[in-house]
Amino acid sequence: MGSSAASTGLLQYEIDTHMSHLAKRYGETDALLAYQACADAIGELETLAAGMGDVDFERQHSLYYASNEEHVAPLKEELALRQKHGFEAEWLGSEAILAEYGFAAPGAILTKLAASVDPYRMAYQLFAKVIERGGEVYDRTQMEEMAPDEQGVTLTLTNGATLRCQYVVMATGYESQTWLPKPVAVNRSSYAFITDPLSLETLGKLRHTMLWESARPYLYMRTTGDGRLLVGGDDDENDIPARRDARVEEKARGLTRKVEALWPTLDINPTFPGVAPLRKQKTACLLVLTRRTVHVYISPWPTVAMVLAIA
Ligand SMILES: Cc1cc2nc3c(=O)[nH]c(=O)nc-3n(C[C@H](O)[C@H](O)[C@H](O)COP(=O)(O)OP(=O)(O)OC[C@H]3O[C@@H](n4cnc5c(N)ncnc54)[C@H](O)[C@@H]3O)c2cc1C
Repeated sequence: MGSSAASTGLLQYEIDTHMSHLAKRYGETDALLAYQACADAIGELETLAAGMGDVDFERQHSLYYASNEEHVAPLKEELALRQKHGFEAEWLGSEAILAEYGFAAPGAILTKLAASVDPYRMAYQLFAKVIERGGEVYDRTQMEEMAPDEQGVTLTLTNGATLRCQYVVMATGYESQTWLPKPVAVNRSSYAFITDPLSLETLGKLRHTMLWESARPYLYMRTTGDGRLLVGGDDDENDIPARRDARVEEKARGLTRKVEALWPTLDINPTFPGVAPLRKQKTACLLVLTRRTVHVYISPWPTVAMVLAIA
C-alpha cells in the first residue's frame, strides 16, 4: 500500500488553496465545485466506513488558525466566501482560541465538517470487501509495462508474467505520473510523528478538533481514537530519499518545538515510528486506461475524498 499507509488521515474539505484564491484563479463556480466535492466526500466516506469494521472514523471539527496578524484579513475573506456558499464555519477571536484551545493565535476559522480515519485499516477493509465479493487481490505485484492495442491491454509484471485484459484502472497514487507522457506534479517531502497516548484532560478540545495553520508549510495535527497526537508538517522540496531520511531527526525536533511553542506545558513524547518522511505531491492522479485512451483525474490534497467523489 502506498501513501494511504502513511496518510495522517485528516479528512477536510478545506484544501491547501483557499476557496477565495481558487475563485480568483478559476472563477467562483469552479472553486465552489472543488470545495463542495470534498465536503460531500466526507459524508460518503462516513457511509463507507460505517459498513466496515473499526477504521477509527470520527467526525471532527477543524480549526484553521492564522499564523500571524497579516493572515487575519485573508482568513476572514475566506470565511465570508465559505459562509456565502453555506459551509458551516465561524470565526474565533484570539480570546476564544486561548480559552477553548489553550494557545495564542490572532484568529481562526472553526469548521464543523471534518473527520479523521485510519486509512491503512480502511484500505485493508476495502480489500477484504473485494475478496468477499469474489474479486482477487494480489499484493506486492508490480506492473512494469503496459501495451494497449485494438482489442485490449497487455500488462507485463516485474516477474515476467503477462496479463491480458480489456480495461485497466490505474490508481497508483503518486506513482501515477510515471505513466503520463509528461510530469504534472512535483514531489515534496512531508514529515509526521505520533505521540504516546495523552489523557483526555490534556487533550481537551483537541480530542475532537483537528488543527492546521495559515503559514506555508503548515503545521497540522489531530488525535487518534486512542488519544495519541498525530503531528505533521515542515514539508520541503526534498525528493531524494537519502537526503530526506538524513533530516528525519532534525524534522522531528522542529515539529516538536512548534507544538511546544503552542502549548509550553504540554509534555509530548514523539514515539516510534518517530518521523515518517514521505513523498507527497500537492496533486494525485487516478488514471483510467481504455484501449487507446487515457483518462486522467487529478485531485488536490484531500485526495482520498476527491477520488471517491469522482469515482
Ligand atoms: C505523510 C503524508 C501524509 C498525508 N496526510 C493526508 C491527510 O491527512 N489527509 C489526506 O486526505 N491525504 C493525506 N495524504 C495524501 C494521501 O495519503 C494520498 O493522497 C492517498 O493515500 C492516495 O491514495 P491512492 O490510493 O491514490 O494511492 P496509494 O495509497 O499510494 O496507492 C497506490 C498503490 O499503487 C501501487 N502501485 C504503484 N505503482 C504500481 C505498479 N507499477 N504496479 C503495481 N502497483 C503499483 C502502490 O504500491 C500502492 O499500493 C498524505 C500523504 C502523505 C505522504
